[in-house]
Amino acid sequence: MINECNRCLNVEGFDSFFKKPIRITSSGVCNICKEWEKYSRFFQEFRSIARFQLSKIFETVKKKEYEYDALVSLSGGKDSSTALILAKEKYKLNVLSFTIDKGNFYRGVQETINELTDNLGVDHIFIKVPKSVMVPLFRFGISTLSTGGIQCKICAGLVHIPILSRFLLNHNIPIVLTGLDLWEIQDGYLFNLNQGMKIENPFLYTLPNLRSRWNKYQIPIEDCLNLLQRFSNGQTFLRLKKEFLQITNNLLSRYRLNSSEIEAVNKLKFYDIALTALEISSKKRQLELLKRYRWAPPRDLYTGELVGTDCKIGGVVNAIATFKQKRRMWSSRIRAGLVTKEEALEEIFRKKPNLTSICATLKELGFSQLENRLIAGWNNRIFGDLYDINLINEINKNLN
Ligand SMILES: [Zn+2]
Repeated sequence: MINECNRCLNVEGFDSFFKKPIRITSSGVCNICKEWEKYSRFFQEFRSIARFQLSKIFETVKKKEYEYDALVSLSGGKDSSTALILAKEKYKLNVLSFTIDKGNFYRGVQETINELTDNLGVDHIFIKVPKSVMVPLFRFGISTLSTGGIQCKICAGLVHIPILSRFLLNHNIPIVLTGLDLWEIQDGYLFNLNQGMKIENPFLYTLPNLRSRWNKYQIPIEDCLNLLQRFSNGQTFLRLKKEFLQITNNLLSRYRLNSSEIEAVNKLKFYDIALTALEISSKKRQLELLKRYRWAPPRDLYTGELVGTDCKIGGVVNAIATFKQKRRMWSSRIRAGLVTKEEALEEIFRKKPNLTSICATLKELGFSQLENRLIAGWNNRIFGDLYDINLINEINKNLN
């Protein structure tokens, strides 16, 4: 019989990717929940303080008559859409929103974005990154899965952050609002605590990299190289490294800020606020709000779970995750109070992964096999914990 946490979905065992044990303590909760008990009071305090400061910040900014009060990076998914709705409707901010189309949208997302920004009366800009730039990154990320999402780290650090920074510079916008949700802020907070980092209010300082580091591009690149090295060796590592650096160099040559821009960004004074995380404590409520503004999830999501509604690359990764991995992912949401255990299980088992759509996306990226180029491929014990090999075999049969 499996021994499951009373509070979240974690079960007793060893987390081989993060190299730490999951134990069920004598009180029936797991060690992660137990650890969180210690910190949750401080975290809630940060949240109350940020909520209190929020109205004051918004009032001050409104008085100053900027071109725009706030910038919202709108991915079209549920969380950034929520941030945009709250900014405009609840706080009456004059918002500029922008979307970077990286070729990773589900069908219909552009239309959803147009409709939402029209209904709200918000100025909005689409930026399209050419497929030839993003596809090699997506291909690389998917064929070296199990490294914790190389595609996400590089997309965020080398594409998203520099484009966002230029918006701030060009329009002199005093507030950035992010759609990060409560569990993401909570997990980030815990991670930083465990790293022994100095903690600022995680709801009011959500983009530390944008503020403090000169050569910030090196950080995600080094992180990814370390992961590649952990999971490959010898010639394979050298080959992967060369390919990876070609991809990142191409992105850097297109989007990196030059030194005077970096200097200017460092001088900028702006707030970056996790508005969705501050305002939304229940996923049910969030969906009710979104429904009122006619936001609908993409019709061709790859599973029944309402996660990563803005990126079909993430959709593939989520669809092939094992139940063990999903337990871990949903446990974070349960700990944050966004869903109950029952609601999480309902989402996980609502639908079988949609093989047809998953294969269509993989074909679009040029795959004829869902391969894993790391040590021992999908047979690596660690990867077996993370990805469902039976489903991968089925996908590969369908791809042929
Ligand atoms: Zn637990």
